[in-house]
Amino acid sequence: MKEKGSRPQGPNITFVSTETSSTIDSFLAKFLTQPQDREYADLCMLPELTEQTLLDNLRDRFNSGHIYTYIGPILVAVNPFNFFPIYNPKYARLYSQSRRLGALPPHIFAIADITYHNMLRIKESQCVVISGESGSGKTESTNFLLHHLTTLSQKGSDGSSVEQTLLSAGPVLEAFGNAVTVQNNNSSRFGKFIKVNYRENGMVSGANVEIYLLEKSRIISQAVGERNYHVFYYLLEGATDEDRKKHFLLQPNDYHYLNQNNFFSCEGINEKYEYDRLKHSMEAVGFSKDSQDKIFGMISAVLLLGNIEFIKRPGYHSDENAYIGNEELIDVIAELLNIKAQQLHQALTMRRTVLRNDTVITRYNVSEAVFNKNAMSKCLYNALFHWIVLRMNQALIKRDTAIRKKGYYIGILDIFGFEDVGAEWNSFEQLCINYANEHLQAYFNQHIFQFEQEEYLKENITWTNIEYTDNTECVHLFQQKPYGLLRLIDEESNINNATDQSMLLKLNTYLSNNEYYEIPHKKEDAFIIAHYAGKVKYQIAGFREKNKDLMRHDVMMVLKNSKSAFVRELVGDDPIAIYRWNLVRNTFKAVNAFKKSIQSRRIRRAESVDRLMVPNEPLNASHKRGSDSHLSAFLRGEISEAIVPDFCDTSVFKTIVTRAKKPQTKQKPERQPTLRSLQAVKEIIGKKPLSNKPSSVSRQFEYSLSRLMKTLSSATPYFIRCIKSNNEKIPNFFDDNIILRQLRYTGMLETVRIRRAGYSVRIEYEQFINQYRILLPNGQNSTRKDVEEYISKHPYIDANNVQYGRTKIFLRDAEKLLLDDHLHRI
Ligand code: ATP
Ligand code: MG
Repeated sequence: MKEKGSRPQGPNITFVSTETSSTIDSFLAKFLTQPQDREYADLCMLPELTEQTLLDNLRDRFNSGHIYTYIGPILVAVNPFNFFPIYNPKYARLYSQSRRLGALPPHIFAIADITYHNMLRIKESQCVVISGESGSGKTESTNFLLHHLTTLSQKGSDGSSVEQTLLSAGPVLEAFGNAVTVQNNNSSRFGKFIKVNYRENGMVSGANVEIYLLEKSRIISQAVGERNYHVFYYLLEGATDEDRKKHFLLQPNDYHYLNQNNFFSCEGINEKYEYDRLKHSMEAVGFSKDSQDKIFGMISAVLLLGNIEFIKRPGYHSDENAYIGNEELIDVIAELLNIKAQQLHQALTMRRTVLRNDTVITRYNVSEAVFNKNAMSKCLYNALFHWIVLRMNQALIKRDTAIRKKGYYIGILDIFGFEDVGAEWNSFEQLCINYANEHLQAYFNQHIFQFEQEEYLKENITWTNIEYTDNTECVHLFQQKPYGLLRLIDEESNINNATDQSMLLKLNTYLSNNEYYEIPHKKEDAFIIAHYAGKVKYQIAGFREKNKDLMRHDVMMVLKNSKSAFVRELVGDDPIAIYRWNLVRNTFKAVNAFKKSIQSRRIRRAESVDRLMVPNEPLNASHKRGSDSHLSAFLRGEISEAIVPDFCDTSVFKTIVTRAKKPQTKQKPERQPTLRSLQAVKEIIGKKPLSNKPSSVSRQFEYSLSRLMKTLSSATPYFIRCIKSNNEKIPNFFDDNIILRQLRYTGMLETVRIRRAGYSVRIEYEQFINQYRILLPNGQNSTRKDVEEYISKHPYIDANNVQYGRTKIFLRDAEKLLLDDHLHRI
């Protein structure tokens, strides 16, 4: 029997099926019984609302095993660091049968259920935004949501494979992008937005994972009490003897990148088991044995690079030049990367600079050589991670081949949680992570407070404004023009003779008047930001290099000359560019097949337009003209890869279909670009290579964040607020102070206050009359006055819970339920 409370193991997440069913039954029975009087499943129902009653209620529920609580439609999840058997198929079934949030005890499955059914009902994409600090349970919540979403979808003959791929993607991403940190044994060191695409009938039609900013500094060193990425330890513990030989593996203790803290195994993580699980998941996502070998070979190369030692020439004290102390390693690494040992040797020790027409070669000093080597390792691992994601996305898209006219998606956002790793340690990575969290908090505030209250004001209903901590000014500090924090960091990173200190000086000069920016009292190379979740001090050392994040051209050239296509693909070309190429090529293939089918089957063209399908996206007649510019921008790299599936193919299609519909001669010459052939596309790429892509880390990050925000704003949001029960990861321990702090900075009290005072149901009069016409005295011909009269005379409706706005009627949930109940009884 599986140990109670242990982590449910994926990728299939067959969860607790190994537990005896009697355990589940008694747990289920207890779970479903009404909690004691003191417990409220929805914080809006608290008879008295104060910080204390809120905390007491969460504690009472937590102590009786109820980790989930609602605030209206918002789910609060208190991480118990102990898995209750509430994620098994019985619960999945139970929650997939209920259509109303609140009909069953609060549960994460209920959120998956409501987003899914809402999407189908209102025909709009949905998104679930999961927030909370590091270790609060965002990634686990994401996994549970995904699992339930795939259970809910109507499986078709091809559908199940997409779902399997999707569920297997999680363990792969976590192995390569998560690590043991002080705060969390499985901390995500990157952000992700997973989009599950659906057809109109509710079947999963594909998925896409977008990732944000992998923490690269971890590859070369880790803070005390932290480890490198999981995959290193999994591989070294789990590999067979044969694989060890093939990849030249050593023991964890033998690698500089792993042994700086002497922290190799972590309680609760079984590396051998995880290695097998990883290999299974990789297979399920489509990585063949051969691809896996290449990936693990690359992991080995990164580790060995870390072991290369640079020394000064023995006996030559005044000579600062760097020489390699353990040359034998060069051959091994060169073999793993399929490059020439001699070239690698040179690239690691010498710098080539072109001055006018002369190439000057100089030797690095030791610290320069170490820096150069580390940059190479970081870059290789980062490229590998991106390549894996890219391949996974291709697998998730490839299966989306069925014919569909329209579709929606459910997006789940799981980013790295807010972090303060100590005033001496916070660096550029923490700044980026916390900026993203600041953005998300602003997004939450906007939806929960700002939009809500603006609507009440607009509709002119009686409303007492609810105060909340608005953090938009802090977001503004980062992105304001012309001199926001990020812009300044960027500017100083690009000045050749600038230093971290000159960067700090610049920040202080431009930002010291901002109330969210502080200069430390004691003189030190640091600055402080007053984040929504507390003040954080950042050390400026390393900011410039981390932001520039360059692999030297010489090293890049050596890798580009690799005999291995895999290595060339990783570094030779931007993997995104390769992805684009594949998309374009597949599109053209599909078009040709389509043309043939028109010729042979004589399908009417107008009809067939609707039935055209490429790997990602169908073309339908509603696509507007003139989006060719998007395609060319995309091909030039000005538009992100994330947007590709949304319009790239359709643009190509559109152009081609437009041509197919019109005789060639009538095509307007000024339409740009004219995609006559793949050659034409090549020309577009060739003319303007991917030079317009944002260059620095902060720019890339800001760019992808703003795109994310755009995506989020085009979908109906649901929120999950994850709360960490204690800082020591102790199972079932509710630490009042730790929780109170989180309740405060997330604005939980105000959130309950607005949900309680606000009107969750708002319906335009016309729609209300249409919906409830049978109840109204004048039926379909009723007026707003009739509605008011009906409601005021209703024996059970509390007039205080209803307000009449300019265009809408505002109700609370209970009133809506009464009306619906009445309606159904007629
Ligand atoms: P980070 O921002 O560092 O990535 P996170 O918010 O994603 O943190 P998770 O990795 O999801 O945090 O959770 C941390 C740990 O807490 C998990 O490894 C697991 O042990 C425990 N945990 C999280 N959610 C639950 C849950 N619902 N039930 C039981 N334990 C949980
Ligand atoms: Mg996480």
